[in-house]
Amino acid sequence: DAAGIDAGGTLVKIAYVKDGVRRLRKFRSDRLAEAADWLRKELPDAPLCLTGGKGAKLAALIGRETDMMPEFEATCAGIRLLLPPALGGSAFLLANVGTGTSVHVIDGERNLRIGGTGLGGGTIVGLARLLTGLDKYEAIVAAAAKGDRGTADLKVRHIYEGLEPPIDGDLTASNFGRVLPGAVIGSGEDGSISREDALASVIGMVGEAVATLCVHAAAAHGVKTVVYIGSSFNGNAPLRQAVESYTRFRGGEPHFVENGEFSGALGALLRL
Ligand code: ADP
Repeated sequence: DAAGIDAGGTLVKIAYVKDGVRRLRKFRSDRLAEAADWLRKELPDAPLCLTGGKGAKLAALIGRETDMMPEFEATCAGIRLLLPPALGGSAFLLANVGTGTSVHVIDGERNLRIGGTGLGGGTIVGLARLLTGLDKYEAIVAAAAKGDRGTADLKVRHIYEGLEPPIDGDLTASNFGRVLPGAVIGSGEDGSISREDALASVIGMVGEAVATLCVHAAAAHGVKTVVYIGSSFNGNAPLRQAVESYTRFRGGEPHFVENGEFSGALGALLRL
């Protein structure tokens, strides 16, 4: 038995082997004690390797000797286990859209963290709470899926009003740029903006910003393929859609990896 554990800003991801079977599991990072209790009970004697910002804190709660490894190393090692063979061969960009976003270039054995942005899944949850009062992740993404970005977002063609724009009129000119003076979140009637529409625009904004950063970074490093991972895509079809279409639109080749958010945990497990 053994376990690799990636304790991130929002979620603890665990990849473990028990009785010869590999399994995956998640806990909330604001309830580290639950993860520690589970590990002590389920894997009492197994070697553990931890990574992620909250790894040291979780290790202290577990209360036995554990290994540690740097999170970027763990993520870049673990992603190899999850990639379809067709992607394994050549260099690609890896964008880990977690609470925040971290971007890497992976070329064979070499990997380099080239940047990131504070825009990520945490931004979606935080702005959603402030704008709508919805607190739960599932409720936020369910509401957003019903929304229409056309209410709040200004497209290039809106500015040109029927004239021929110098760039694609469907590009977003300004996220939230259509919101008029005095607008509030409400029923969607009488100039108010529904929470569904506002949330659709929040997710669109994060998705487009992340995709734009990635496409530019990919171009600067001479690669086209962008592999997106992170729990931010779980159950969040609007984010996936915004990132996918914007990446393609700007000349990149997007790929979403199932269970990609477990890359760090798998990389830590590999270390044992
Ligand atoms: P981290 O390693 O920073 O914790 P993750 O890759 O686990 O990052 O992604 C965290 C993000 O995933 C959250 O900000 C949120 O947008 C999204 N998410 C997906 N499922 C949940 C959930 N059950 N609870 C909270 N956030 C979730």
